[in-house]
Amino acid sequence: MKNRESTFQADAVRAIARRLVTAGAVLSLAIGPAFAQSPAARPAPAKPVAAHPMGGAAVDDARLLAADGEPGTWMATGRTYSEQHFSPLTKIDKANVGQLGLAWYGDIDTERGQESTPVVVDGALYITTAWSKVKAYDAKTGRKLWDYDPKVDPANGAVACCDVVNRGVAAWKGRLYLGALDGRLIALDAKTGKVAWSVQTTDPAQPYTITQTPRIVKGLVIIGNGGAEYTCRGYVSAYDAATGKLKWRFYTVPAQPGDPTNTPQLKTALKTWDGDFWKYGGGGTAWDTILYDPKTDLIYFGTGNGLSWSQEVRSPKGGDNLFVSSIIAVKPQTGKYVWHFQEVPGDEWDYDVTNPLMTADLKIKGVMRHVLMQAPKTGFFYVWDAKTGKLISAEKYAPANWASKIDLKTGRPVENPDVRYTDEKAAIVQPAPLGAHNWHPMAYSPKTGWVYIPVTESTTGFQSAKPADFKVKERVYNTATVATSDKITELYGKPGAPQRGNIRSYLEAYDPVTQKAVWKAPDKDYGPHGVLATAGNLVFSGDWSGRFNAFDAKTGEKLWSAPTQADVVAAPSTYVIDGEQYVALLVGARGLPPGQARTSASSANNSRLLVYKLNASLTLPSTPIAGSVAGKVLDPPLLTGTNEQVIDGEGAYGRFCAGCHGAAGVADKSIPDLRYSPVLRNLATWNSIVLDGARADKGMVSFKKVLADGQAEAIYHYIVSQANKAKAEQAKR
Ligand code: CA
Repeated sequence: MKNRESTFQADAVRAIARRLVTAGAVLSLAIGPAFAQSPAARPAPAKPVAAHPMGGAAVDDARLLAADGEPGTWMATGRTYSEQHFSPLTKIDKANVGQLGLAWYGDIDTERGQESTPVVVDGALYITTAWSKVKAYDAKTGRKLWDYDPKVDPANGAVACCDVVNRGVAAWKGRLYLGALDGRLIALDAKTGKVAWSVQTTDPAQPYTITQTPRIVKGLVIIGNGGAEYTCRGYVSAYDAATGKLKWRFYTVPAQPGDPTNTPQLKTALKTWDGDFWKYGGGGTAWDTILYDPKTDLIYFGTGNGLSWSQEVRSPKGGDNLFVSSIIAVKPQTGKYVWHFQEVPGDEWDYDVTNPLMTADLKIKGVMRHVLMQAPKTGFFYVWDAKTGKLISAEKYAPANWASKIDLKTGRPVENPDVRYTDEKAAIVQPAPLGAHNWHPMAYSPKTGWVYIPVTESTTGFQSAKPADFKVKERVYNTATVATSDKITELYGKPGAPQRGNIRSYLEAYDPVTQKAVWKAPDKDYGPHGVLATAGNLVFSGDWSGRFNAFDAKTGEKLWSAPTQADVVAAPSTYVIDGEQYVALLVGARGLPPGQARTSASSANNSRLLVYKLNASLTLPSTPIAGSVAGKVLDPPLLTGTNEQVIDGEGAYGRFCAGCHGAAGVADKSIPDLRYSPVLRNLATWNSIVLDGARADKGMVSFKKVLADGQAEAIYHYIVSQANKAKAEQAKR
């Protein structure tokens, strides 16, 4: 072992020397006339990088700031502070990408959504998986270095709106930092995976979850949380990376008047609310993006929806409801408020603006501008001055009906009056709550000057619950909306009404300067997927047809594709070891792609880490594992419930079950599609699961406390009804 490590160190020194040479070459090629003026495009000083032993994770401010000086390293989930998900590597390019093959892979021992971007530093590759587990590999050989399982109580799965996922680790001074689903912030020794410290960042009695990557800024670990669909009040906290001591906390929405946590900004914000909204928590959770910009010395984060979604319930007289659906800029050392920009005043469509943020230097109207950019759920692409938050431009990057444009003077959307809804009035809204773009990393290439966005087009119907009848319940959706109603059905039945639900998805190249789409590469099967752009003029992204693809960054032409045997939602990353460029991707989410059999012994959705390099030829296992082939046949019992039960069941399912099991009983995550469940054959077994918690160990906790008498059975009849409808559809095909 000792010999091996010292050999590695010698190799590492040689590799770093080679990397520095490569870096210089790449940068001189990359700087075209358009970029010559850009301070960001100037090569980082060619300061020698010290060699670190494998697993050293010796990341600090200086090394992160000089990340372009070691382009073969992927030190943070978005690679550098700018979070562009762009690699300066050029060894894999348009000419040779066809020779890309599988070098090694690692089976993952969970079968839920896998969302993390691999972090690669000092020879080791780190991923997080479903249930907040961390795995470390030798980035060259794929040898597993260690596993860490925080043993999250599966009951937390029931309050994770969007699966028990995690988006990655932050590396810092020999440690890795992880936000666990149950609200813990955990520091691990990067060499061993042993816990250095662990703190609870949330009240475990409240339905908070963490799925985002922590951000390390000047020795502080910055972390937010999710839960704005339940009963949470959003906040972002900073902990000392060395000790785990809390340094500051920034609440995103006000509490009750007089509450000591109401800062001056929140006291002002309070005036934009009405009613007793704090009883619901208020929402505004900052559940994904946290960006630090060394140039402005600001931390930026985006906040989520208000709670409830229905503004009629949340804030009956309306109002902007600050700071929901906003970008907030704060000082890193103190968490002191600097500026905010509310994208969706008085949001009631679940338009979180927690989507990835990135900084870049763009030449706009002949002037170099240091900007902050985002493609949020709403369908509008925003470019702001990173220092002041002043809006530079905002245009539609995807179809959206909720607003016609953004007023550049006020920064406010010009709303379509038809999209506001009440308990009496329904509305059809585009995009639907999953957004035109969600958490999936987009990428920006300074070579093309374009942003690569995984776009989804969708519409949904909204109607409010009756405010007088609506009661907040613990640990379930409290959105106070109905997804289906006669009025929604009527709207969709009108001539010229848009298609309901998911329409199409594609990878879009978007010019942030001209605010225009350049090309679109359509997906065969609907679904968003994270993106990587490289200086080899390539864009890498997986899909929901079970493929990993490389596109020409300039034209969108598909140049290479390989089977993943799994749906892909995560973003790839790329790195160099011993002169060879690798591309790494975590796969597995939802069920299996159409027609794909299960081939992994440890994961029903073939969750794996796949690592590629030129001229490698490993193949994934081809032998199906029995009883696990996709395209199962529906075989539900006959419907025995009454019409009233099915209608009651539909309402209860929408509120209590759809968050995890999918709208209208159609599973959209790696959670069993109830319509196919053998449990439908036996109502007693159904009740033992729904009411008695027979599958609590898998995250399906008892719903006895929240369901009214007869509701478990009503939901059962609703699912049986949906399964029979789907079976009839299957028979027609
Ligand atoms: Ca939300």
